[in-house]
Amino acid sequence: MRGGSGKIRLFIGLAIVAFAVLKYCSSAETNHYTGETQYVDLTTDQEIAMGLSAAPSMIQEYGGLHPDQNAQAQLDRVGNKLVNSSIGKNTEYQYDFHLLADDRTINAFALPGGQCFITAALYSQLENEDQLAGVMGHEIGHVIARHSAERMSQQGLAQGVITGVSVGTDGGGEAAASIAQMLTMKYGRDDELQSDDLGVKMMIDAGYDPYEMIGVMEILKNAAGPNRAPEFQSTHPDPENRVERIKEAIRKYGK
Ligand SMILES: [Zn+2]
Repeated sequence: MRGGSGKIRLFIGLAIVAFAVLKYCSSAETNHYTGETQYVDLTTDQEIAMGLSAAPSMIQEYGGLHPDQNAQAQLDRVGNKLVNSSIGKNTEYQYDFHLLADDRTINAFALPGGQCFITAALYSQLENEDQLAGVMGHEIGHVIARHSAERMSQQGLAQGVITGVSVGTDGGGEAAASIAQMLTMKYGRDDELQSDDLGVKMMIDAGYDPYEMIGVMEILKNAAGPNRAPEFQSTHPDPENRVERIKEAIRKYGK
């Protein structure tokens, strides 16, 4: 009865795929701040809780908080100014800005719900406050556009499809896995470009010079050596491409 059990396996596989797709599609909602349709399972409160619970371990991962209170105060001032003079003000997220002690890893990132981070290594390379606003505007952009929550839903979908295909076929799982990975990478690049766009908008709204975002790209480009590629860049598109899009955003938002 080889054929029979193969068929049952195929049906179970299809059911797993169908369930994953249905669950994903039923999570569609409109992001009020970006106007896009997104697939997210998490509520705003869950995003905030997740970010707050992960923040201490992220801080520890990067050598703790930086002891320079003046620099931390500047970061808070710039971050809050960006939030309060932009669409960020209308969001329910709880924004916190952390200067991390790590002076070797050039990085900045955001957790869902509003926890934003920059390492001392990147901070020390910045030439002015506008560039700091550029980095933080980009990170606040990730929060507002709910990129982490969106990726988590995509991973859930991808996992469902991979499981379904491997149950339903023999060895088809690998093909499905590489397709899923390609999708995730593409979304990753789009997320970065969208965050640059939102960052430029926030800089203009808050009265910062948006052209300094281009300076940030220069710093990232120069920091990328063969042995010390910054993590900030590994998931980010080429700074050259980003510069073009940043210029477009500056024209679009008028400055
Ligand atoms: Zn980013």
